[in-house]
Amino acid sequence: HIVSDEYKLVSKKWKVKPTSVDLGDGVFIQDGEMAIITGPCSIESEEQIQKVVDHCVENGIRMMRGGVFKPRTSPYAFRGMGIEGLQLWHSIASKAGIKIVTEVMQTSQIEEMYPYVDVYQVGARNSQNFNLLDELGKVDKAVMIKRGISGTIEELLQSAEYVFSGGNEKLILCERGIRTYEKASRNTLDLNAIPILKAKSHLPVIVDPSHGIGIRAYVPQMALAGVMAGADGVIYESHEVPEKAYSDGQQTLDFAQSARLAAWIREIFAKR
Ligand code: PEP
Ligand code: MN
Repeated sequence: HIVSDEYKLVSKKWKVKPTSVDLGDGVFIQDGEMAIITGPCSIESEEQIQKVVDHCVENGIRMMRGGVFKPRTSPYAFRGMGIEGLQLWHSIASKAGIKIVTEVMQTSQIEEMYPYVDVYQVGARNSQNFNLLDELGKVDKAVMIKRGISGTIEELLQSAEYVFSGGNEKLILCERGIRTYEKASRNTLDLNAIPILKAKSHLPVIVDPSHGIGIRAYVPQMALAGVMAGADGVIYESHEVPEKAYSDGQQTLDFAQSARLAAWIREIFAKR
């Protein structure tokens, strides 16, 4: 017979205890804690990396995001600094105890990225790249899977099942908004997905309000809504001068806004 939810290992029916993802040096992504991950959409320069690392350190943020391999809708847009950018970033971030969350776009990048990455991000566009998911299942390093652009909750869980069943249990799910008929925002952040994913799966769930709404001014409230919805962490974009960012500046917070948001996230989480 046909079952609609063809996943089991990532399901709470299989494992009741929440999965804790240990990134080392006391940094965890897990139920009962609030992970804050911030940084630019794209890694741009040594100077920029240093500024974001300093911003993280000043605000007690232990995880930094940023793309070096960028999936751009237009082939003419900035495609990222590549592996050299990641190496540079790692040399700066590791000294400051900051963990690196960055997107892997294809299987051939997994190995070259391995020494420098703490969390492999699978982007929305690669959410159903099953070859990539298979290969990440064999890696001994954390993986965060973003929901597909038009992906259902069930499909996200099935993508996670690929990695988990391959043997990699260091897995994180990310709600980043989906494409709907609504054009007033970049995507529609599906806050419903957060409690549903938490109920269905033992994996930690992160919310991405930056891509979720795509409008800088509304990122903080959607982040806090995600926290109230039960997220185990927030990933959002920040940059010293968002207007000058190489990508996604319109949804990127400056450092003052980011510092305020990090404090709010912690305050709301403490009261949840
Ligand atoms: C990003 O995190 O910058 C990104 C490209 O996200 P998504 O895959 O969710 O579009
Ligand atoms: Mn982005």
